[in-house]
Amino acid sequence: MDLPNLRWWGWGTLDQTYSLENQPHFWPTLRARLDLPDAPEPRPAVPLEQIKLPPSRLDHPVVASLQRLLGEEAVRTDAQVRVEHAVGKAYRDLVRLRAGKVTHPPDAVVYPADEGQVAATLAWAADRDIAVIPFGGGSSVHGGLEPEPGDRPTVTMDLARLAQVIAVDRTSRTARIQAGARGPALESALNAQGFTLGHFPRSFEFSTLGGWIATRSAGQACSGYGTIKELTEAVRLVSPTGIMETRNAPASTAGPDLLHVLLGSEGALGVITEATMRIRACPAVQDYRGLLFHSLEDGLAALQELNHHGPRPTVVCLSDAAETAGCALLSRERRGLRGLTGRVADLYLTWRKHSLTNGSCLMILGFDGEPQAVERRWQQALAVCQDHGGLSLGQAIGESWKLERFSHPYLRDTLLEAGVMVDAIKTSASWSNLLSLHREMTTAIRAAIPATGGGPGYVMTRVCHVHEWGASLSTTFLGRQVPGREVEQWWEVVRAAMEAVEANGGTAATYHGISQDQSPWPARQVGPLATRIQRQVKQALDPLSIMNPGVTAHL
Ligand SMILES: Cc1cc2nc3c(=O)[nH]c(=O)nc-3n(C[C@H](O)[C@H](O)[C@H](O)COP(=O)(O)OP(=O)(O)OC[C@H]3O[C@@H](n4cnc5c(N)ncnc54)[C@H](O)[C@@H]3O)c2cc1C
Repeated sequence: MDLPNLRWWGWGTLDQTYSLENQPHFWPTLRARLDLPDAPEPRPAVPLEQIKLPPSRLDHPVVASLQRLLGEEAVRTDAQVRVEHAVGKAYRDLVRLRAGKVTHPPDAVVYPADEGQVAATLAWAADRDIAVIPFGGGSSVHGGLEPEPGDRPTVTMDLARLAQVIAVDRTSRTARIQAGARGPALESALNAQGFTLGHFPRSFEFSTLGGWIATRSAGQACSGYGTIKELTEAVRLVSPTGIMETRNAPASTAGPDLLHVLLGSEGALGVITEATMRIRACPAVQDYRGLLFHSLEDGLAALQELNHHGPRPTVVCLSDAAETAGCALLSRERRGLRGLTGRVADLYLTWRKHSLTNGSCLMILGFDGEPQAVERRWQQALAVCQDHGGLSLGQAIGESWKLERFSHPYLRDTLLEAGVMVDAIKTSASWSNLLSLHREMTTAIRAAIPATGGGPGYVMTRVCHVHEWGASLSTTFLGRQVPGREVEQWWEVVRAAMEAVEANGGTAATYHGISQDQSPWPARQVGPLATRIQRQVKQALDPLSIMNPGVTAHL
C-alpha cells in the first residue's frame, strides 16, 4: 500500500538523488558562502532499527476490533510504518527523523479501501476517544501530520487505497477523483483521456489530491490554471457527524459557500474522500522561456503589467538576484543558465549590462495552449518585458527549468547530510507591498542566521503564484547548522521572518496549510470573531475533536 523504497528520512525514493556530478563549483562556492568546514563530517540518518519508539497504546483487543472493520492487512502497528507516518517533510521533521527523534508516532496506521471503511473507522475512533489524522502523500511542511502529545492514542489514516480517477465528464470538463490519488498517477490518467488538471506543486511526485485540497495548495502553473481553490468544483468529506458534500454547480449564487470551509481544513474537519475537479484539454504546446531583468523591480513591473493587461502567462517564476546566482551555480553543464556562461555569452551579457552572479534577475515565463495562440502571446509578452528592460534568453533555459522543476527537494537531503540548515518561508502580498516585504523579510532573515550561530548564511527569493492582485514570495535560507540545536536554530530564523511578514503586510496563510508551526500568526491575522466561527464549524462536524487535534490553533 505504501510506496516501496521510500526515503523515510528525506524526500522521494532511495533510487533517486540530486546529482552534483558535472558541477565542480557547487561545494567550494557553498562552503565559502556559508563558511562551512572544508571537510564537513557527514551526518547520515540513524538506521531505522535504532529508533526507539514509544510502544503503541492500542492493546490487542482494540487492534483486533479495527482489523475486523478493515481487514488484517489494512491495520499496521510496525515500527517502519509508524515512523513513515509520524511527521511530514519540513526541515525540522527531517532533522528530527535523521537524528532518530520520533517522540509521538501514531499508535497505528490504517488503509481504508472505500468510503464506508473511512466512516466506520471514524465511528470506531469516536467510541474510544482516539484521534484520527488523515494522511495523503505525507509532504506536509507545517506539522499537519504530527500526533498531538498527550495520553490520547492516535490512528493515522492513509488514503493510498482511494486513488482512482472515478469518472471524466468530457462535456462539462470535470473529473471525479478519489482523494488519495498522487500527482503523477492522477495526471497520467487524465492525460490518457486528453485532459490535465494543471496542478504541479513542487511536491507533485509525492502529494495527493486530498492533501492539496486540505492545504489549499498552489502549483507552478497556477498563474494559468489557477490554484487548487479555483480548480475544485465540489468536495465530499466524511466527518464524525456524517457525510458533507458540497454542490457541484459552477454558477451557483447560493452562499455562504461551504466548499471554502473544506479547502484548507487540514484534516481537522473530516476526511476528504473525493472531489470533482475542473480539468482542461492537454495543451498542444508548452513554450517556456527565460528572460533576464536588471532588477527585481523591473521584473515585477513586467509581471504586474502582464497580469493587469495580458497576456497572462501560465507559468511565472521570477528569481531575485541572489536566487539567480544560485540557479547559475546549480545549472547543469550545457543546459540552463550554465549554457550562458561561455566566453561569448559572458561578453554578450556584459554588453547588455547583465551579470548572472551580480544583480540580474532571472524570470521563467511559460505559455500553454494552441501553437498559434502561444506564439502570438509570446510576441506580446516579449514586447512588455522589453519595455521593462527584459532580455530574452530563449527556450533552452525554459526547457531546463521544466526538466528540473521537481528535482530540487532531493538536493535538500544532500545539504542536510553536510550539516546545512535549509528551508523556505512562503508568504504572499498585494503588488503594492511585495517589494518592501521582500526587502524587510530578507533583511530579517539575513540578521537572524548569524545571530543563531549559523554563519553568514544565504537568503534568496522567488516570486511565484502570480495573479492580478499580487503574488507569493518563496524565500529560501541556508546557514550552518548548530549541532544539537538544529530545530531551535531554525525556529529562531522562522520567527524573525514571520514577524517581518506580519509587520509588512504579508500573510502567513499562503499556499501551505497553516498549522502548529505558524498558528500564532494566522489567528492574529483573522481576528477573534472569525476564529470563533471557525471553531463552531469544527464543533458541528467534529464535536469530540477527534480529527487531527491541535493541527491549528483555531480548529
Ligand atoms: C519539497 C516540497 C515542496 C513543496 N512544494 C509545494 C508547492 O509547490 N505548493 C504547495 O502548495 N505545497 C507544496 N509543498 C507542501 C505540500 O506538498 C502540500 O501542502 C501538499 O498539498 C500536501 O499534500 P499531501 O498529499 O502530501 O498531504 P499530507 O502531507 O499527507 O497532509 C497535509 C495535510 O492535509 C491533511 N490531509 C491530507 N489528506 C487529506 C484528506 N484526504 N482529507 C482530509 N485531510 C487530509 C493532513 O491531515 C495534513 O494536515 C511542498 C512540500 C515539500 C516537502
